[in-house]
Amino acid sequence: MSVSSSSHISSAQTSGLVCAHHHLYSALARGMPAPPLQPTNFLSILEQIWWRLDAALDLDMIYWSAKLGAMEALMSGTTGIIDHHESPNAIEGSLDVIAQACDEVGVRVICAYGVTDRHGADGGRRGLAENERFIRSGGRGLVGVHAAFTCSDELLESAAGLAADLNVGIHVHVAEGPDDIDAGRRLEQLATDDWLLVHCVHLDRPLQGTIAHNPRSNMNNAVGYAQPAKWSNRIVLGTDGIGADMLEEFRLAYVARRAVDVTATPDDVWTWVDNGYDFVPECRDDVVTWNYDHVDSPWHTAFTPGTRAISVVSGSGERLLDDGRPVRVDEDEVRRKASEAAQRLFARL
Ligand SMILES: [Zn+2]
Repeated sequence: MSVSSSSHISSAQTSGLVCAHHHLYSALARGMPAPPLQPTNFLSILEQIWWRLDAALDLDMIYWSAKLGAMEALMSGTTGIIDHHESPNAIEGSLDVIAQACDEVGVRVICAYGVTDRHGADGGRRGLAENERFIRSGGRGLVGVHAAFTCSDELLESAAGLAADLNVGIHVHVAEGPDDIDAGRRLEQLATDDWLLVHCVHLDRPLQGTIAHNPRSNMNNAVGYAQPAKWSNRIVLGTDGIGADMLEEFRLAYVARRAVDVTATPDDVWTWVDNGYDFVPECRDDVVTWNYDHVDSPWHTAFTPGTRAISVVSGSGERLLDDGRPVRVDEDEVRRKASEAAQRLFARL
């Protein structure tokens, strides 16, 4: 029941959607205090906002952030998330906390801890160990790498070797901004088909793997339009931590592509949403009912803002969302606890 072409008789139902690149830890970032310095480019956005935020996270904040993010995903009809996590002062056990929070809501998650040398070689080693510990203990994961420009060649090689040993891919930001322009050269001997290459806005050569496109985030960071369709790679759609409303991201992905190619169609762009099932195939069996009768027609949905998920029933028959409200968790309680965690987080910034 995935979305089919516009010749199909449309309906108010789709499968569960997949957000193929998320940062659940960013759910608490909304409304955070302004940074000490106004960011003026991509690198200073990382330094002034995200790297201050991730350094302040503890396991309790990670739990409530993931729970809020997973709940909001479910309320957006998204039942599968590929998450990329970093919390340099709370590394050990962080992926278990995220997986547990998502499971409690009823959303599937593929976790990754983004390793980096930003906090010294020991931080890189501990990040690798968290990926290995989580996956070897049965967790569903990819080996995470922050980005080539914050990693030594040794760490990139270690991560690639670990991923190969564990028989999983790497989940890595690639050439998101000009600071990572060297990513293609440094990764081309390492990347394999099972890698998830996030952004690729400034990528200068082909790389093996799937490209995760995040148009809203790219606009927000003023890094340029990624033009994912110029590569022959499989393309999937993510939000880069700005919620998990995949119909919203689809609409934006469509107009962003259309702005540079008037022949682009919603059907083309919907394949990017559909390709998420290659990573989380069970989401195909989930049934989402929407408040719009033509939601499974890309040509209708591309021009219909504001569609909302009314119910979600998992492939096993469990009702996870009812009348727009999550069933397994108390929405008001999750929002209250997440807000308390956010206040503690903001006080540390
Ligand atoms: Zn990202």
